[in-house]
Amino acid sequence: MSSDESIVILDAIPFDVDEGDALAALHLEPGAAFSDEALDLLHEAISVARPKGVYRLSAVETIDDHTTALDGVRFTSRILRVNLEGVSRAFPFVATCGVELEEWSHSKADVMQRFWADGIKELALRCAITVLGNHLTGRYQPGTRAAMNPGSLADWPLSEQPRLFSLFGGAVERTGVRLSESFLMIPVKSVSGVWFETDSGFVNCQLCPREDCPNRRTPYDPHALENYA
Ligand code: SF4
Repeated sequence: MSSDESIVILDAIPFDVDEGDALAALHLEPGAAFSDEALDLLHEAISVARPKGVYRLSAVETIDDHTTALDGVRFTSRILRVNLEGVSRAFPFVATCGVELEEWSHSKADVMQRFWADGIKELALRCAITVLGNHLTGRYQPGTRAAMNPGSLADWPLSEQPRLFSLFGGAVERTGVRLSESFLMIPVKSVSGVWFETDSGFVNCQLCPREDCPNRRTPYDPHALENYA
C-alpha cells in the first residue's frame, strides 16, 4: 500500500493459472504433442513470475467537450469525456506481467519456447488485471466497470501515457513498468488505462476498425462513433 491511501500497489500477485486454460491459450490440447513441454515451461514461469499492478481513486472533472481532468490532470479525448459524463470518480490503473517474467522470457532461445513464453506472459498480465480489478471491486464496489486505454483508439493517443503515469506519483516505478521514448510500456505485456463505472458498457474494440486483431473482444460497429459526436 502507498502512503497515499488512494493509491493501491499490488507487487506480489501470485501467478495463478489453470493448466487447461493455459494450454488452450497456447493453442495446445491436453496430451497433444508438445503439451508436456509447454506445461514444463508454464511451471517454470509460475515459479519466477511476480505480476504487479497499481490503481488509484481519482476525482473526475469535465473541462470542455474534449477534455476531462482526473485529479486535476487533463486528458484530451472526446470518447473518454463522454464515457465519464455524470461520474464523479474513476480508477486509473497500470498492470503488468512483471519484469521477472520479462527477463525470464529473454533467456529462451528456442523459437517455440519464445512463442509459448510470450503467451505465458500474456496470461500473467491477465492474472494481474483480474486481481487488481477484484481488489478495486472489494474496496469501492463500483458496479459494472469498463476501461479505456491510451493508444487503443486514435481519439486517445499513446502520447497521453506520461500524464496517466503522473497520477501515481512514482508508484508505477514500483511495479517495474516504464515508458519508452515512443510511450510504449516496458515490459510490453503491460496495460494502462482508466476504469470507470457504466450502465451501458463500453469496449474499445467496438470503435476500432482494425482487421485480424487476435485480441478483439467485440465486433467493430461502424455506427458506434455516432454516440460520441
Ligand atoms: S480490436 Fe484489437 S487493436 Fe482494436 S481496440 Fe480491440 S484489442 Fe485493441
